[in-house]
Amino acid sequence: MPIYEYKCNKCKKEFEKLVFAGDDKDISCPQCNSREVAKKMSATSFMGGPSLGKCAAGAPNAGFS
Ligand SMILES: [Zn+2]
Repeated sequence: MPIYEYKCNKCKKEFEKLVFAGDDKDISCPQCNSREVAKKMSATSFMGGPSLGKCAAGAPNAGFS
């Protein structure tokens, strides 16, 4: 699950949000409701996501091909 970190440019609040693919255009600050939020790339979700998926998909695929 892609959880992104955001930081509000208005009140400087940092928050995390679960974002599905392409569904990150409606992010607003939970504190001041501002849409002026900056997305922070989460290193953990980048490193963990693809490698975990590869590992899980690798075994069954090897058997099929
Ligand atoms: Zn805010």
